[in-house]
Amino acid sequence: MIHHDPNRVPTVIQSFCRRLADNADDPVSAFVYDLDALVQRVRWLRSHLPEGVELFYAIKANSEASILNTLAPWVDGFDLSSGGEVQKVIGSDLTNACVLSGPGKLDSELRLAITAGVERVHLESLDEIRRLNTLAAEAGITQRVLLRVNPVLPQTLSSRLSMAGQPTPFGIEERQLAEAVKRVEGSEHLELGGFHVHAMSHQTDLHRHQPLLDGLLDKWPIWQALAEHPATITQLNVGGGMGVNYLGPDQFNWPALCQHLHQRLAWLSNPPRVRFEPGRFITAYCGYYLMQIIDLKHNHGEEFAVCRGGTHHFRLPAAQEHDHPVVHLPADPGRGGSERRVTVVGQLCTPKDVMARGVRMTEPRRGDLLVLPLAGAYGYNISHADFLCHPRPDLHFIHGGSI
Ligand SMILES: *Cc1c(COP(=O)(O)O)cnc(C)c1O
Repeated sequence: MIHHDPNRVPTVIQSFCRRLADNADDPVSAFVYDLDALVQRVRWLRSHLPEGVELFYAIKANSEASILNTLAPWVDGFDLSSGGEVQKVIGSDLTNACVLSGPGKLDSELRLAITAGVERVHLESLDEIRRLNTLAAEAGITQRVLLRVNPVLPQTLSSRLSMAGQPTPFGIEERQLAEAVKRVEGSEHLELGGFHVHAMSHQTDLHRHQPLLDGLLDKWPIWQALAEHPATITQLNVGGGMGVNYLGPDQFNWPALCQHLHQRLAWLSNPPRVRFEPGRFITAYCGYYLMQIIDLKHNHGEEFAVCRGGTHHFRLPAAQEHDHPVVHLPADPGRGGSERRVTVVGQLCTPKDVMARGVRMTEPRRGDLLVLPLAGAYGYNISHADFLCHPRPDLHFIHGGSI
């Protein structure tokens, strides 16, 4: 699927949405996930992977149990980014390998992860090396780790959301890497297996992602040689970051990236075991956000469709600052009439609760359904206080100076 028409909503999803609305008293809003499409998607991604290259899923893109259970047979493992996500996997029947990454890991999160048996912890700083070694010693285990590197990258490789090649809280700067390797090797309870680079998110351009992989493979022998026993360093986790084009049909050319990687690995005398861990690229396409029009109005020359739901459910368009594609499903499909441009908003009392401006609709009416596709990743999961499954904040009420 290198082309994907965002304005095409499968009939099965359309009928399901209509049924939902027919059976409800109030206008509806909901997320609808097509699990068959998700299986198709992940099988397609796998079918292009070069032999020996692994596919993990970064669950922060969508960690709903049904999504994880559906993906479990088709991915080699899960990438977790918080204690809440570790808890979620531990509390399930999933048996896939898991890795834990992310800056700002608490001791309690690291302890939880290593006692639950995560396959690898991706270490993000020199001090984290020390902390994890102490915790592993306390737990009486040897923990396998990768070092997350923030490498020097050419400016041209950055994306809208860059985590590396510039000052960020992510990973260990390349010039500190020799020191980091030495410290892990000096840590009795840690075992270094390789390196991890998740450099960017939302990279829709193959011709920028491909040089990034090339750069990492060029650096691989250099990084490997930092170890006392380079032969024990076998893993190169190249992260995720393959983007989704929300605004047009042309999508990231995954088959070409895999083909290129296949050739590059074949040239290397001592290739690493490569692992991808995308989030968005796996689940984005399977999800739809459904809204139903509550009210239509004109205000200062602009027409608004006020709909059930809003950015508290689906923050992605606001977060990306884009006009999300909207597919209009009229209550009576044969309806004719004039085409108008409408701004689609939710129920929140803020002018920022906008899904899209200038959406072309033919004679929209109260009760019509609007379907927002490409809502399967970073949709509901980033739109509420449970982002990354972190706990909600404590609330303290102080009165008269006493607690
Ligand atoms: C978020 C994240 C990913 C997935 O990123 P996508 O852009 O969704 O592919 C992969 N690895 C790490 C370490 C992450 O934090």
